[in-house]
Amino acid sequence: MTFRSSPGRRPKPEDVFDLKCCRGCRQQYETPEHVLLQCLHVPEIVDLRHRFLSSVNIDPNLERSESHCFELLKSLLFSWDWIACTASFVNDVLKVWKDGNNIEREGEDSDEERE
Ligand SMILES: [Zn+2]
Repeated sequence: MTFRSSPGRRPKPEDVFDLKCCRGCRQQYETPEHVLLQCLHVPEIVDLRHRFLSSVNIDPNLERSESHCFELLKSLLFSWDWIACTASFVNDVLKVWKDGNNIEREGEDSDEERE
């Protein structure tokens, strides 16, 4: 599993935070929008994000809430003008993220997200 939490996931009382939280910063749920657009833990990802957002004329330095990141990610993925650069940005971030977390090799991480 690439991300521990599904897109738009918000904390629920029965959640075990340690199993859902970002493996980078451990501050927020590890949703795709958090890792792609919000997390500041991995400098390489911050750098990729900065270049990508600048290239689509979005302010990379603006602080965004989780729901804002979720909406932004959705609009990027559904934009015909940006889909190519969004896809390559996502691909690059996933590579860095998986390498950094040894995701392929990690056996303990196989529990599925249930929604
Ligand atoms: Zn994080």
